Amino acid sequence: MEFSAEQGSGGKPTVQHAGRHRHRIYAVLAWLVLSCLLPGMIAACVLFMRDYAEGRAQLEKTTIATARALSQAVDSQLLKGMAAAQALSTAGALTRQDWAAFHERAGSVLALSKAGDIVVLSDATGQQLVNTLRKFGEPLPRHGDMALLERVFATGKPVISDIYLGGALRKPVMSIDVPIIQDGKVAYDVSLGMLPDRFNSILLAQNLPSGWVAAVIDRNGTLAGRLPSPEKFIGQKGTAEFIQKIKDVPEGAMETVSREGIPTLSAWSRSPVTGWSVGIGIPRAELEASLRKSLLALGLGFVLLLLLGLALAWLAARRIAGAVRALTAPATALGAGKRVVAPLPNIVEAAEVAEAIGRASELLAERTADLEQANKSLSVRDAELREAHRLARFGAWRWSIEAGAMSVSESVNTIFGRELPPFQQLRGSLLPVESWETMHTAIQDVIRTGVGCSAEVPANHDGGYQIWLDLRCGPIHGADGTIVGVAGTMLDITQRKQAELALQRTRETYVQQLEEDVARRTMELTSANEALDRLARTDALTGLANRTVSNEHLHMEFLRLKRTGSAYAVLFMDIDYFKSINDTHGHGIGDQVLQQLAGLLAQSIRETDLVARYGGEEFLAVLNDTDIDSAMAVAEKIRQTVAQEPFPNVGQVTLSVGVTAAQLADENEDAAVRRADEALYEAKRTGRNKVCFC
Ligand code: GH3
Ligand code: MG
Ligand code: MG
Repeated sequence: MEFSAEQGSGGKPTVQHAGRHRHRIYAVLAWLVLSCLLPGMIAACVLFMRDYAEGRAQLEKTTIATARALSQAVDSQLLKGMAAAQALSTAGALTRQDWAAFHERAGSVLALSKAGDIVVLSDATGQQLVNTLRKFGEPLPRHGDMALLERVFATGKPVISDIYLGGALRKPVMSIDVPIIQDGKVAYDVSLGMLPDRFNSILLAQNLPSGWVAAVIDRNGTLAGRLPSPEKFIGQKGTAEFIQKIKDVPEGAMETVSREGIPTLSAWSRSPVTGWSVGIGIPRAELEASLRKSLLALGLGFVLLLLLGLALAWLAARRIAGAVRALTAPATALGAGKRVVAPLPNIVEAAEVAEAIGRASELLAERTADLEQANKSLSVRDAELREAHRLARFGAWRWSIEAGAMSVSESVNTIFGRELPPFQQLRGSLLPVESWETMHTAIQDVIRTGVGCSAEVPANHDGGYQIWLDLRCGPIHGADGTIVGVAGTMLDITQRKQAELALQRTRETYVQQLEEDVARRTMELTSANEALDRLARTDALTGLANRTVSNEHLHMEFLRLKRTGSAYAVLFMDIDYFKSINDTHGHGIGDQVLQQLAGLLAQSIRETDLVARYGGEEFLAVLNDTDIDSAMAVAEKIRQTVAQEPFPNVGQVTLSVGVTAAQLADENEDAAVRRADEALYEAKRTGRNKVCFC
């Protein structure tokens, strides 16, 4: 349940309910009373109605039975009348046509039998001959019901009439007419008349309850007897609807309206013998009165029970409400964090709540104590954290979009050496313009994209020296998920930066030294390689080019010859009897000879020419742009120079030379060498110390 308490106009706290409608306990208990009573009430109504319906059905049956009994009584009255009439019809006076004697006889039969009220004797014309209502001899009218008379004469059988207006009486009357047959045909009609009083007597004898209506009805639907007010209704027709129903159904009951206009439940029974009926009407008001009474009693009982129930509900609700309200003050005090000892109300459940409030109060007190303890340790932790921040040179900051301002933790001030002014004022002061822009852009980016970022920026300490900051930030989301600000951290990384700078400088120095070292080493290596190359291409003993170089040179010259046609000559030189020098003077002296000879050869050719030590004591010279004659001249000059040169320890040394010129037709550079070698072989063979060519 959500509710907020506020002061009403009367100073009393009012309760505003949010959401669903709330009910007062009075209303709840009233509904309870109603819901308990209503089903019983409805059941009682149903029972009453059923009882009424059953009672009414039973009454209908009884009344029909009564009507049947009365109908039988009427039948017996009529049959009694018929018996008397038939007895009269056999009187001897009739045969003799002694009407005076018949008058007397009829009078005595009526007096004795009491089966009728009048005896009338009529002839075929309807003329009354005798009428016991009149003294004999008085003039008489015609038969009151001529149709009846005609039927008797026509059929020759007795007929029970309906109600008709008596001829002499001039009042409603009914009769039983019997034919008097003389000489085989109907000569006269004896009519035994009955006045409606007889039928009223039958009805009266039944002693029906007052208010009930009873009637004897003839076959035409005319009332022959009627209670109450016979004088008013006898001779009149019953209500058309009722008469029709009697004609249609021999026995039954229906709701109708009496001639007096009273709604009645009417039962009837029609005699199958005479066709006369008896109807009994019970005023419906009387019938329904008992039901109404019952329902009224029930209604009153219900109202009384309801009032009683509501009164009890009210008392109970007042108790419960009082017990619940008594908990309001302790609950409010509990809400205010006070220690509460709630009074125990006399309602068990409310008392349980009161106890629960008491326990909650104790629990709250314990929790409050715990909370205070926790707050204390939190303060200690907070101080430790602040100290840790200060020592770590770490700070936190927060940008609020709503305020458009930045707030910083205490340690941020420590990092800058002073209290931080508003963010705008940092620009160009504590933060260099570029750093300020970096931070400003980072904040805007986080607000725009929701993605955190970081940067390292230089800043100015209040003490006038530069510091470095590591800034990191990310979005702060509101309850609805939108970005409401930026949370950031700040770490003083000056020492690290300085270390990095020092490291950078060291690294640069190191790299520079390394580069110089590498350059120097490279140079050394290059010269070593060059020396190595030189060694690889130079004969170690004589310092001349070796055989590899001479082969390369020969190849190059051969290619040049092929390309330009420029001629070159090859001189193949071999020291004569060198083995004997070695043998005679030793290898060392032999080596000296080789060195000295190499020097001579090198001096004897042009700079562009090549002389190489080709083998042990064999030398090869390649003279470019030289024909065979020039080559022969050079060879000769060399031979002479060597021959004239004194060699220490050895004396004279001679040389044999084979000369040839390379030719365009040569297959490769070896061809010329082979020819020079052949020429050399020729020089050796033909005496040595000479030049041969090939
Ligand atoms: P010929 O006149 O027919 O050329 O006779 P020769 O003795 O000069 O020829 P041979 O081929 O019989 O001998 C060559 C000698 O050269 C054999 C060898 O010991 C010597 N010799 C080869 N290379 C060197 C060297 O580097 N130093 C010395 N001291 N002697 C060498
Ligand atoms: Mg040799
Ligand atoms: Mg030799």
